[in-house]
Amino acid sequence: MKTLLPNDVWNERLFTGSWEMGELPITPVNSPSNGQHLGALANAGADQVERSALKAAIAQRDWYALPYDDRAKVMRKAAAIAEQYQEEIAEWIVKESGSTHPKASFETSISIKSLHEACALPSRSQGEVLPSVAGRLSIARRRPLGVIGVISPFNFPLYLAMRAVAPALATGNAVVLKPDPRTAVCGGYVIARIFELAGLPAGVLHVLPGGADAGVALTSSPNVAMIQFTGSTAAGRKVGEAAGRHLKKVSLELGGKNSLIILDDADLDLAIANATWGVYLHQGQICMSTGRVLVQRGIYDAFLKRLVAKAQSLTVGDPTTAQVHLGPLINAAQRDNALRIVEASRAAGAKVETGGSAEGLFFQPTVISGVLRGNPAFNEEIFAPVAVVVPFDTDEEAVQLANDTEYGLSAAVLSRDTGRALRLGEQLRTGLLHINDQTVNDEVINPFGGVGASGNGTSIGGAANWEEFTQWQWLTLKGEAPAYPL
Ligand code: NAD
Repeated sequence: MKTLLPNDVWNERLFTGSWEMGELPITPVNSPSNGQHLGALANAGADQVERSALKAAIAQRDWYALPYDDRAKVMRKAAAIAEQYQEEIAEWIVKESGSTHPKASFETSISIKSLHEACALPSRSQGEVLPSVAGRLSIARRRPLGVIGVISPFNFPLYLAMRAVAPALATGNAVVLKPDPRTAVCGGYVIARIFELAGLPAGVLHVLPGGADAGVALTSSPNVAMIQFTGSTAAGRKVGEAAGRHLKKVSLELGGKNSLIILDDADLDLAIANATWGVYLHQGQICMSTGRVLVQRGIYDAFLKRLVAKAQSLTVGDPTTAQVHLGPLINAAQRDNALRIVEASRAAGAKVETGGSAEGLFFQPTVISGVLRGNPAFNEEIFAPVAVVVPFDTDEEAVQLANDTEYGLSAAVLSRDTGRALRLGEQLRTGLLHINDQTVNDEVINPFGGVGASGNGTSIGGAANWEEFTQWQWLTLKGEAPAYPL
């Protein structure tokens, strides 16, 4: 049977047209679940990034000049190919990123959804006719920016790249994608192959796996008009600074410390189900993961006891060979950082109720209580399966605790009294707010973005993509040039 990623060519094909493979350092691709050697990839450096950006800038002109329906056809074909190979793609997400099968299937289908949404972008109205003086046609129209540099992270590698690549291409831009080198196959090579098979003209999309140096080169390239960055706040600050220096448009989707607020009238079974999902899904490696579980005093003891029991019932292991709830963390650095935060929080007076340790990259589902403001577990994004449970007395106190962070990505409130939950929610400083749900939600067509240290609030999603990946031009047209009196 034909495969999307034939093993014998999966190095060379990716880079066709950019450079010769021989010049680049090759790194192995190993599974975080069991160390299995999956293949090898070439890592791009600054030179390759610049060459690709230049080629992309040239190719973009012809791509945008195509009839709009030709661009839509490529997007439709890309969606069909992704659907055809969705099981193989999901398998790669499991193998390369340590995802469980349900998470990988969800990620594949939401990525296909973003391709479907992109199919409709080329045929949208691209501007408006403005009122003007007699005899002059005055038009505001949106035009592509040129080359978009997309820098993506490891945790939802396919979707977080596709949600930018698909609309950027559909609106007439070329793209240079730099996936995280830890997930360069499912976050990069898969996308390159989908668009290659869909007939995207050569040079319009370049996929260059590489580390921070490649990202820095992309951010400073004169041929790149905009950077769409998804990753940590620390790296995002550097990207934002560099983009400002080079006067590029920049969209930053960064980290979070997201509160799930559970009011004392909430259904306890549903509260446990929501907290478990928000904290432990994909081992807590999601920007919207529930980083604080704020529980009203009246139900705090019962909730904590049940959450500890629930955490102890979750299975952890190799998702490539078993049906488990949690797979491995992505690498040792991520694990060690989580262990450091757990230890520092214990030293600062918190109690580790369960978990708190790791075997290899497999981190035990953990619950920490007694976490006060200022405790590292209260402040830092942990990016591991750690529930930080904090009691509160009044709704005002819950608001103060939830807003006590520089981040502002997602928040959620659980209560049987939706009016009360909404009143509370409206005081929270976040880009995403869910009443009677947990913090991890995305549907492709919603605006997505955070405030504060979670990003610059630029939205990816639905109609917002036109604003995101194009810029206004004012065009006027007269029958003949006026005779100016000067
Ligand atoms: P990271 O910032 O270390 O890496 C993300 C990407 O940026 C990678 O491709 C990396 O190679 C690149 N990079 C690193 N330094 C760079 C620099 N100076 N210039 C240009 N590129 C650079 O992030 P990570 O730790 O791998 O990912 C997890 C983080 O991403 C978490 O903080 C998480 O909350 C955040 N995240 C945010 C969203 C969102 O939509 N808001 C989604 C997923 C993850």
